[in-house]
Amino acid sequence: MLFRSLALGSDLREALDNKEQLMLYYQPKQDLQSGQVSEVEALLRWQHPLHGFIPPAEVIPLAEQTGLIQSLTYWVIEAAIKQHFAWQQAALMITISVNISVYNLQDRHFLSSIQSLLGRYHTRGDFLIFELTESAMMSDPAHAIASITEFCKLGIQFSIDDFGTGFSSLSYLKQLPAHELKIDKSFVFNMHNNDNDAVIVRSIIELAHNLSLRVIAEGVEDKDTFDLLRILGCDAVQGFYIRRPSAASDITACLNNYHDKMRSKLHG
Ligand code: C2E
Ligand code: CA
Ligand code: CA
Repeated sequence: MLFRSLALGSDLREALDNKEQLMLYYQPKQDLQSGQVSEVEALLRWQHPLHGFIPPAEVIPLAEQTGLIQSLTYWVIEAAIKQHFAWQQAALMITISVNISVYNLQDRHFLSSIQSLLGRYHTRGDFLIFELTESAMMSDPAHAIASITEFCKLGIQFSIDDFGTGFSSLSYLKQLPAHELKIDKSFVFNMHNNDNDAVIVRSIIELAHNLSLRVIAEGVEDKDTFDLLRILGCDAVQGFYIRRPSAASDITACLNNYHDKMRSKLHG
């Protein structure tokens, strides 16, 4: 296992150099009030020439251990920026969420590198959301608050990912300049037939709204869960029931199709 890990580390370095094996998949986030999809989450996909698909749950810790997480995150953000402009050209205005590691936030060059990346594309970061897990934010809350504040000046918004698993301190949560809270999928999967999970989800929705945060549920796999979340006042949903993560071209086709349907509803 250690051997595979060592070999994979150098393969990942190579993949970051030539980029052909890396790509982003995108998963829609659907607004529950309007029914619209104007946001997606970018999820890393690595197709290894020998081992095939390597899931991000393996790639990210590997990148963190081998010091490659900075260049990997930089590549992901640049790919997301390019995709945003490609969609804009196709008249689709899409906000893209990108997952950020706690190691990125600890790197003192991260902010300036993103600042110059945005500068290179002559843009602000208003179409970007950084998703950071609750446990990463709470590992050094004072530092997280300070860094997030700086990124907000670039127009980038923050989402607190995997919420409910990280033992947040409420006093810090109140101070975090985040705009969204994402309920961890472990509470969402069975909420329609498990009262404890349903109570947790309902409490998180109330907590988020009391803190003026938008709240989104991930891991929505069926209609019952979708309907229940709407009744509970959740703002948005993400999950296999809406769509599995897919290549950008599939998302473009799916959104065009959706907009055509909306237009014909309006005019017909
Ligand atoms: P995450 O940020 O919590 O992302 C959601 C994960 O749940 C994704 O797995 C997605 O494919 C999966 N998912 C979405 N809807 C459903 C559903 O309805 N049911 C189930 N069972 N799963 C669902 P994925 O793509 O394997 O990513 C796993 C984790 O790897 C992500 O969890 C995130 O923490 C990390 N990750 C992915 N891409 C990146 C990246 O570019 N950078 C960093 N730092 N982390 C990433
Ligand atoms: Ca995420
Ligand atoms: Ca999550």
